[in-house]
Amino acid sequence: MKIICIGRNYSEHAKELNNEVPKEPVIFMKPKNALLLPDKPLYYPEFTDDLHYECEVVVKLSKNGKYINERFAHKYYNEVSVGLDFTARDLQEQQKKKGLPWEIAKAFDGSAAVGSFIPVNEGTNVNDLSFQLKLNDTIVQDGNTKNMLFSIDKIIAYVSRFFTLNIGDLIYTGTPAGVGPVTVHDQLEGYLQGNKVLNVEIR
Ligand code: MG
Repeated sequence: MKIICIGRNYSEHAKELNNEVPKEPVIFMKPKNALLLPDKPLYYPEFTDDLHYECEVVVKLSKNGKYINERFAHKYYNEVSVGLDFTARDLQEQQKKKGLPWEIAKAFDGSAAVGSFIPVNEGTNVNDLSFQLKLNDTIVQDGNTKNMLFSIDKIIAYVSRFFTLNIGDLIYTGTPAGVGPVTVHDQLEGYLQGNKVLNVEIR
């Protein structure tokens, strides 16, 4: 399976990191070892002093496809959850300054936390999913997929021009404003449509 991530998909977040609002989706990937399964802790990596959370809606692919038309993209997934795109912000800033790839800052072991998935059924409007992140019981991110620059279906169409999508692949769809640092002993809880789906402790 692949973990495909979209960057700068909410204009308020692009602004908070002083990035331009993109004209096309910004894509990067994480390897399979980046996956942090539900209820597993994340051990604070020794190579960073500025580990950040980024709470994002995660889509799980249920069908293989390439060159997927946006109109049919909804047929390629049937589950969504909330995840955390953990980022070593200090390393990322350093890489960005040098124009180098982000992997060491974003694709390390455990950097892709994912919650339990909930089914997408006919009544689910994936373009109006509310999601929140609580850090030690305080809401720090409060997003809705209606504020995405590129919708889930647009992302699938775009990504599948370059990469074949396979059953089980995960797409992290970008984070809204409010990202910030974590420290050891922090408790992170992710909510999707009011349901708690994610729980990560930093150790
Ligand atoms: Mg992100």
